[in-house]
Amino acid sequence: MFQDPPDPGYDVPARIGDPLSKVFTPALVIDLDAFDRNLMRMKRFVAARGLRLRAHAKTHKSADIAKLQIESGGAVGICSQKVSEAEALVRAGITDVLVSNQIWGEARAARLARLAEHAKVQVCVDDPAQVAQISAAAVAAGVEIGLLVEIDCGARRCGVQPGSEAVTLARLVDASDGLRFNGLQAYQGSLQHIACAEERRVAARSAAKATKTTITALREAGLSCETIGGAGTGSFVLDADLGAVNELQCGSYIFMDADYDRVSEASGERPGGMENALFVLTEVMSRPVPGRAICDAGLKALAVDSGLPRIDVPGLRYTGASDEHGTIEDPEEKLALGNRLMLVPGHCDPTCNLHDFYIGVRDGRVETIWPVTARGKLF
Ligand code: PLP
Ligand code: MN
Repeated sequence: MFQDPPDPGYDVPARIGDPLSKVFTPALVIDLDAFDRNLMRMKRFVAARGLRLRAHAKTHKSADIAKLQIESGGAVGICSQKVSEAEALVRAGITDVLVSNQIWGEARAARLARLAEHAKVQVCVDDPAQVAQISAAAVAAGVEIGLLVEIDCGARRCGVQPGSEAVTLARLVDASDGLRFNGLQAYQGSLQHIACAEERRVAARSAAKATKTTITALREAGLSCETIGGAGTGSFVLDADLGAVNELQCGSYIFMDADYDRVSEASGERPGGMENALFVLTEVMSRPVPGRAICDAGLKALAVDSGLPRIDVPGLRYTGASDEHGTIEDPEEKLALGNRLMLVPGHCDPTCNLHDFYIGVRDGRVETIWPVTARGKLF
């Protein structure tokens, strides 16, 4: 279906070598210098702390970025949030994936087991019925699947209660055919975006305490944890100090977004010094009245669940999104038709899932075009 070479403006937003000014908009743009710096910051961080990084691919859904995180960014493997997302990345050459989530259904468990024929695969559980399903699928496929027992360490999402409930489930995993008990999933999701530094510290301490209590209870039951997975971009610095998790699952660190910037600013702590590397390039397509410009990036180019995008130009504000339009307040009349802006998305992960390609830019030119490999892989 694609023209060969791909047709810019239809198949792809640009060609390699194009200046940024020629990229069709709206486009998902990576500042490759900032991206490389974030990659190295995290690599140095985990190396200095003696921790493992299992970078979360839910953020970018890109096999190219996952490979860079593993080959040059210090990651031992990746996390994915869905079986089909993992499958897309394994098909593209990734060989070590943790589905850091619960899965349900015989057909889905069977897909996971088939994936384990091609890659090292792990998944989280918080219910005996999931364990039975995954065990049956693993036995049928003749593979072994590594399981992490997820504990609820404060987020009130998935997870068994820390302590004896976790031990009971871990014992079941350990006794089940086709499964290997690898440790705990201890991700505290709701603490990532707490703006108050002290409140965030309290939540992180409480999660670490629940996790350590569970590790001790498991040890007393004769079960050792090779992996204690957890930590996101908003908590990994705290979690590293607290010492409960040994495998960090940060995703957003590679791009950052306006919401994480707000949390960093409010708390005066920028996680690991990470910087904005992801932008939505947009163009002014209408100047209907004085003081208002309309750009071509709206809800189909930007996720706004965590707030509207930020424009890093004094005097300009993105104030409203509809499907294909973005409203920009421009009281000083700075913008003309065709002017371009790099918007900082409110929330990086769901923004990436709206686009087919990343346009990697260095020194004002397109250096790479990476597909969003697992875009729409939500099963
Ligand atoms: N681990 C799990 C289980 C998650 O659900 C998430 C994000 O939602 C992450 C890690 C990564 O979080 P972040 O993108 O904030 O680094
Ligand atoms: Mn997110």
